[in-house]
Amino acid sequence: MSMLSRYVSRSAVKSSILCASSYSQRPMPEIDLEFQGYRGKSYDESSQLHSERIVPSSIPYYSKPLLATQGKMQWIWDQDGKRYLDLFAGIVTVSVGHCHPKVNEAAQKQMSKLWHTTGIYMTPPIYEFAEKLTATLPRHLKVCFFANSGSEANDFAMALSRIHTGAFDVISFRNAYHGASPYTVGLTAHGPWKHQYANSFGIHHAMNPDPYRGLWGGAACRDSPAQPDRTCACAEGHCEAADRYIEQLREVLDYSVPQKVAAFFAESIQGVGGTVQFPKGYLKKAFELVRSKGGLCISDEVQTGFGRLGSHMWGFETHDVLPDIVTMAKGIGNGFPMAAVVTTQEIADSLKGVLHFNTFGGNPVACAVGSAVLDVMKEEDTQEKSKVVGTYFLEELNKLRNKYDVIGDVRGKGLMIGIELVADRATRECLGAKEFVQIFDEIRDQGVLVGKGGLRGTVIRIKPPMCITTRDVDFAIDAFSRAFESHNNRK
Ligand code: PMP
Repeated sequence: MSMLSRYVSRSAVKSSILCASSYSQRPMPEIDLEFQGYRGKSYDESSQLHSERIVPSSIPYYSKPLLATQGKMQWIWDQDGKRYLDLFAGIVTVSVGHCHPKVNEAAQKQMSKLWHTTGIYMTPPIYEFAEKLTATLPRHLKVCFFANSGSEANDFAMALSRIHTGAFDVISFRNAYHGASPYTVGLTAHGPWKHQYANSFGIHHAMNPDPYRGLWGGAACRDSPAQPDRTCACAEGHCEAADRYIEQLREVLDYSVPQKVAAFFAESIQGVGGTVQFPKGYLKKAFELVRSKGGLCISDEVQTGFGRLGSHMWGFETHDVLPDIVTMAKGIGNGFPMAAVVTTQEIADSLKGVLHFNTFGGNPVACAVGSAVLDVMKEEDTQEKSKVVGTYFLEELNKLRNKYDVIGDVRGKGLMIGIELVADRATRECLGAKEFVQIFDEIRDQGVLVGKGGLRGTVIRIKPPMCITTRDVDFAIDAFSRAFESHNNRK
């Protein structure tokens, strides 16, 4: 049996109960799961409550937002039983599938034993999880701090780097997203996320090494089956764009910071920024440069971790670097609110005598969930699935790019994929917001949920639960084609 066919139709059997064929033009893939019915607040009531009782900074996707009432593996149902293929996983969070039975069982088991004590007592699940989690990392990374969100994890990592080095200045990239807390919003470098309060004090944003939108980039820059539509004269194994972007980082280090810096933060592939991949070799050189200034290298694996990139468990491994601190969240709990920071013994030792506390980090239920998620990843080989299904997805998207001019770029690795939509391929001018929303809405009408990203929100983001199959990919590709076709017809 070929590697591909192994992932084609494990769950594609039995009946097609309550599929959304009456709503979408192509029948949904058949599954053996049922909509359980919904008796909660009506769609209209929910919409009204959203506008009256929820802060307006929380803006749901779509012209007519989705009311999600049930989820199972890669599927979501609305109030009427319409089923959707979820290719965004609650923003890269539902790593092994909605309500995965093994994860549910672990949570329920722990819930009936012990919910919460805080770190003032020892509880068994935290040790089991810390052992399992660190076993997936390079051996020097073995001491954990547990937190509740990616922002909190990055806050802590930043504080830790400052405490450890005695330095203050931190470097991240333009187009990075590392959180929205007052501390981490300084690391984040996207205008729309910045507001009228002090941030970024002591933080410097280096030029983003973006091979598609940046000043430099070529036809072989990325570790991906999809390359930018740009030419270059690079020799095998040597990326000129990487060198030029490194010079930019060197300038920040020469001009903007003192002799010593505290840290450098990087995502292995930028997530919110629109699945931006750095030129091969860039990150390794960047780590060397930052370390020459005494800084710690921090990998934000909130989106790229846990095997999503297919070839490795951790995104930083794809760049052949060893970070000093790794931060993780989202996929760690398959939707359970939890996060972690893992570092070396030596760096962790700087916290001796430092009092730092949070109420929920390392909560027994969270840790039981975290352990179960890691078990499922192993048992179901979700990393290998990400590689095989993700590569197939990217290859199919490459074909769509050849067909539709509105696709400026396809990029990504494993099941972390971006499709950048443009008004003009030659100038790379972003697609207008109105046109993007039409396409985005139509993909949803076809039964497929995707995300958006990039500075102007014109990148379609695909980061599904890692249980999707090639059959689901075919269904999604068909939905995208129809939406792009309609876009062409509107022109
Ligand atoms: N880092 C990255 C790379 C992220 O994508 C996010 C969230 N989108 C965060 C940190 C912050 O995580 P949270 O929303 O859980 O605070």
